[in-house]
Amino acid sequence: MSDTKLSETGNNNVSGELPPEVVVVGGGMVGAGLACLLGIEGIRVLLLDARDTELDSQAVGRGKPAVRVSALSPVSQCLLEWLGVWKTIIARRATPYDAMQVWDAAGSGEVNFIGDQAGLPVLGHIVENDVVVAALETRLAELPNVQQRFGVRVSGLESQRVRYGDDETDGYQLVLENGETITAPLIVAADGARSALRDMAGIGYQSQDTGHVAVVTTVRNERVHGGVARQAFVDGSPLAFLPLTVDGDSRYSSIVWSTTPAHAKQLQALPAEELGRALAAGIDHRLGETQAVDRAYGLPLTQRHADQYHLPGLVLVGDAAHSIHPLAGQGVNLGLMDAAVLAEEWLLARKRGLPAGHPLSLARYARRRRGDNASMLKLMESFWRLFGAEHPALTLMRNMGMSGIDRLGLVKRLLLQQASGQRGRLPLSCRKATR
Ligand SMILES: Cc1cc2nc3c(=O)[nH]c(=O)nc-3n(C[C@H](O)[C@H](O)[C@H](O)COP(=O)(O)OP(=O)(O)OC[C@H]3O[C@@H](n4cnc5c(N)ncnc54)[C@H](O)[C@@H]3O)c2cc1C
Repeated sequence: MSDTKLSETGNNNVSGELPPEVVVVGGGMVGAGLACLLGIEGIRVLLLDARDTELDSQAVGRGKPAVRVSALSPVSQCLLEWLGVWKTIIARRATPYDAMQVWDAAGSGEVNFIGDQAGLPVLGHIVENDVVVAALETRLAELPNVQQRFGVRVSGLESQRVRYGDDETDGYQLVLENGETITAPLIVAADGARSALRDMAGIGYQSQDTGHVAVVTTVRNERVHGGVARQAFVDGSPLAFLPLTVDGDSRYSSIVWSTTPAHAKQLQALPAEELGRALAAGIDHRLGETQAVDRAYGLPLTQRHADQYHLPGLVLVGDAAHSIHPLAGQGVNLGLMDAAVLAEEWLLARKRGLPAGHPLSLARYARRRRGDNASMLKLMESFWRLFGAEHPALTLMRNMGMSGIDRLGLVKRLLLQQASGQRGRLPLSCRKATR
């Protein structure tokens, strides 16, 4: 980086004292989670988000549920407990589920997962994304060394030599849409699947069009969900009914139907009554009749995986590093694990006197996370290909495979442990037993 300028970090003070050690761009669940992890360790963090303002913490999780929800794994729950926000999330709205039914609408194959089989009291919680973000924003506001700024869009990135205290490192200067510039020894790109920072830094990615658009909405069913997450593969398209309890009424479900663009368009154009009928038929009326209580939104699904997770002074986390098909509800769980591992590696390096964003800690973070994320992306690809196949022999194999798995306790236990996030060495912040 011979043509870079030397910059003193300065115009971006946190608490009016020293400038931030890290700027996190993107205050979604992952960026806000990372800012919180670093903030509670006393690190000076500046969190920037393009959204006009913070979420209204009194309004989220009240009334009609938001259509964007996530199935949070027990490991993610542990992390959110560690950050001190889980109680707030539960107090707002979070629906636990302790069983999962997955079946192939084109045959007789079915797998039933029950948390108890893997020693898990719950398999996860369905939580509106805004509920998680709002709880993190409230927690961040309590941390004196964290500054959150909203209505701030990063539009440029320039490599720079950055001086911080006695250290001088290769880093970046951020250029905001309003012309303001900000430098820090480490920039974290947590700006989502279409990460502008990743592109501006020249980091390429592998991309796969899944051939699916996710149709999301909220419904109310005739029968209660009973704490069961249901997913049917309808002509190769996974249709999930995720349990939601609203003001004590457990007849609600959050819908994610990942289907072809043409079918998604049709579903979105249906009047509420017909949409409800199509959804109920999709899961063989297992919850009786269904009524749509929101309009259907369509979100195109592309899997992406960044070619590298870091450059000197810049690191990618969450969807900016990897975006994954939602059929197994893993995206934000992987992203939160990125945040936990990055924070852990950073703090370890700090204890050894290494400065923020030292290449060693970034490389260790990438080593610990890239493989796990890559295998999950591969696994999702094999699922949507297997279930998308219409060949009768593959349909038969798929159904036999599902029924076979259903009879194998050990395999089911292993699958459940994987899905709950218990893979590899967990960071301390995600290990319940150690606290
Ligand atoms: C239909 C669907 C269902 C899903 N279900 C699940 C599930 O059940 N379980 C699960 O684990 N995951 C699920 N996911 C995935 C999950 O939603 C994502 O992994 C998660 O939202 C990613 O969080 P993030 O913080 O990395 O990015 P985002 O949530 O995209 O946040 C990025 C933030 O960056 C800000 N930003 C963007 N650009 C800029 C800029 N230039 N300057 C400043 N700020 C910027 C944005 O305003 C935004 O707040 C699902 C995804 C979809 C599409």
